[in-house]
Amino acid sequence: MQAVATAELMPGCCVFCQSGQGPFVDTFRDDDDPRIVAGPDQVQFGNICHWYICARCVSSMMQLVAPALGQKVVQVAELNEVYGKKGALEEALDLANAKVEELSGALRVVNALTAPEPAAPESPAPDSSARVAHPAGKGRRRVNEQ
Ligand SMILES: [Zn+2]
Repeated sequence: MQAVATAELMPGCCVFCQSGQGPFVDTFRDDDDPRIVAGPDQVQFGNICHWYICARCVSSMMQLVAPALGQKVVQVAELNEVYGKKGALEEALDLANAKVEELSGALRVVNALTAPEPAAPESPAPDSSARVAHPAGKGRRRVNEQ
């Protein structure tokens, strides 16, 4: 098989849909069966009919069998749309990453400016629990007690 721009041999059209608009797949098959030529005006017994398949019929056939082959037929317009979205998403991601970097720098400055002063060594807190634990004063040691 070979892709050709025009169907030069009789009947000069797609064997399935009778379109004369190329491109076609030339199957290199000839057939003298007039039933492959549609329409009463085109049936000419004794003529050799060359089998061309137009691109639209090939595309339709491919869409029918692609799933069985684990494939999917994708239109160029669909691919362009996906690539366009991918480009826009990459651009948005670059902008977002730049903003994150900018905000991270600002956050480092804020953290440096608002960081607490290094704490002075803590003096022991007054021990009030001793007074609570001994409300009657029992066990409390008096300063002048010996
Ligand atoms: Zn066709």
